[in-house]
Amino acid sequence: MHKIGSYIIVLLSLSSAMLYGQEDSWSAERIAEMEGARFKSDKFSSPKSSNGANYDWKYAECFWQIDPAVKYISGKVNHTVEILNETDTVFFDLSDALTVNSVLVEGQNVDFLFKDPLTLAIVFAETRTSGEVIIEINYEGIPQANSFLSFTQSFHGMAPEIYTLSEPYGARDWWPCKQTLTDKLDSVFIEITVPEGQKAGSNGKLLYENVNSNGRVSFGWKHRYPIPAYLVSLAVTNYAEFSQTIVFEDVEINVLNYVYPERLENEQERSEALPGLMILFSDLFGIYPYADEKYGNCQASIPGGMEHTTMSTMTNLNFSLSAHELAHQWFGDKITCGSWEDIWLNESFATYLTGLSYEHLTTPDDWQSWKSGTQGSVKSQPGGSVFVNDTTSRDRIFNGRLSYNKGAYVLHMLRWIMGDADFFLACRNYLNDPNLAFGFAYTPDLIAHFEAVYGSDLSEYFNNWFYGEGFPTYSLRWSPAQAGIAFSLEQTTSHPSVDFYQMPLPIQFIGDERDTIITFNHQFSGEQFYVQPGFDVKQIQIDPDLWIIADKQVIYEPDSDIDINAISFQPNPVSSRLWVAVRNPSFVAETYSIINSEGKIIRTISPSGGIRTSFELDVSDLAAGFYILRLTNGNSSKTGSFLVAKP
Ligand SMILES: [Zn+2]
Repeated sequence: MHKIGSYIIVLLSLSSAMLYGQEDSWSAERIAEMEGARFKSDKFSSPKSSNGANYDWKYAECFWQIDPAVKYISGKVNHTVEILNETDTVFFDLSDALTVNSVLVEGQNVDFLFKDPLTLAIVFAETRTSGEVIIEINYEGIPQANSFLSFTQSFHGMAPEIYTLSEPYGARDWWPCKQTLTDKLDSVFIEITVPEGQKAGSNGKLLYENVNSNGRVSFGWKHRYPIPAYLVSLAVTNYAEFSQTIVFEDVEINVLNYVYPERLENEQERSEALPGLMILFSDLFGIYPYADEKYGNCQASIPGGMEHTTMSTMTNLNFSLSAHELAHQWFGDKITCGSWEDIWLNESFATYLTGLSYEHLTTPDDWQSWKSGTQGSVKSQPGGSVFVNDTTSRDRIFNGRLSYNKGAYVLHMLRWIMGDADFFLACRNYLNDPNLAFGFAYTPDLIAHFEAVYGSDLSEYFNNWFYGEGFPTYSLRWSPAQAGIAFSLEQTTSHPSVDFYQMPLPIQFIGDERDTIITFNHQFSGEQFYVQPGFDVKQIQIDPDLWIIADKQVIYEPDSDIDINAISFQPNPVSSRLWVAVRNPSFVAETYSIINSEGKIIRTISPSGGIRTSFELDVSDLAAGFYILRLTNGNSSKTGSFLVAKP
């Protein structure tokens, strides 16, 4: 944390216009809108591909010739694949807008054809049953954008540029690959040859920058980590270059920035926030996953940014966009969503880590406005789940309000319930799970890690907040009562899919000189409470730090008549599970007894650790009838009655 502290000073010394000018502080919704636009603009109607099921895609060596002045690609890709079952044909994802000149298997020319406009079929000379095969594909052409911006030529000033953006289905527009999310290359080598004066950025470590005899320059990049097709990228223009070295726990992390020469000073200034972000995320989630290679940014005329592994493609290096794309290196790149329906595993985390950047690296006011802005987005409509309930709708999958903002708040609320230590431990366990790390994950994998650390079932939480739709509205009515405050807490929900959100609710009691926040475990609507904060309460505020997505209303009702000593029961009559709530939270009982209508004690229990002010009681073994519950602590006791009804 000491290191983070030193970066706060650096950040605060930057001009506020730099951090928070319109260009420099983008809302999560703006980033989401631009990222989502890719998917919405994807014109291909049945985008999923099952090509490559009969082989394991292991290694690719790519050799590409790019001149940013001409929208064209030519080159070859050598694929190493392992055959999984007997076959004489393998399929690669590739658009037939490109011309395939030849295909060689183990150095021998073989037959090939486009099975459909997006599938290249390669026919082996003989049937293969197993083993590794090297397949060389030579191709060229003008990539057609079946997927939005997949291979884009553009200009900054008068200078031409070419960059790629393959998420979700655009990789095959410009290179032969296996486009599934669930088979990553083990590693990839990329050589990009460009005209003199141009630079080519890509994934992994820069091995060489060679000037060829014809004056063209070859950039050789090697990435030694598993990577899916859509995260392989290139960006070429007349870049200026600057580096940063960030030290985290004695490890040096190199950052390589390729930016427009005319923007060099601006981007250098903006990049001063990057060390703070890198150290914060490494501290919370484990060291940057590709520390032995690099992190980098390639500037391009891209709307927003794209988290290409170790080399994000960025419209500029503004604070919130830098945080979002860097965060994806852990959540999205190290662990990739196993299907696009699980996109929240990428985007909720990237959005939430941007929030954490505001929490740790800016002012309390900026953190508060990040939270209220994110909540405001979620609450702008009464329904909608983070869970993708319509997998045919790309607009739904990449919905900024739900997959980004509500998802981020589902994480924030879980942190509130679990506490910081457990929440961040569960996140690190997820990232380090050997079955998931550098692979892919589905939503139940993440939930399992949260439950393992929390030590109990979180299904009600996820049913309400992840699968369910909407959010609660709290209505609190209070009055002074016997040197304290009595209040009732009602809750309605914005969508019928959730009856009630059972949440620990922080409530702030404010006096003239003092204030205090007490957290109440809200078990049912209409639950009544009595507290003695120890000072004269003038005002009450629900959840002042915005932990919970909710609308809130506080009403002062001095005439309300709440029996501060009572116990309340929900539901009443009851058949099996009864919620018991003691209004006065300062009364901690040691023993509870259930007494039947004949006055006979039929159950007495003294749980270790005492009895909380509200708890659940299993009464399914009781016969129908009238019962009294007595809570005892030494000489003082409280009683209440409930009715058991049997169907
Ligand atoms: Zn994102």
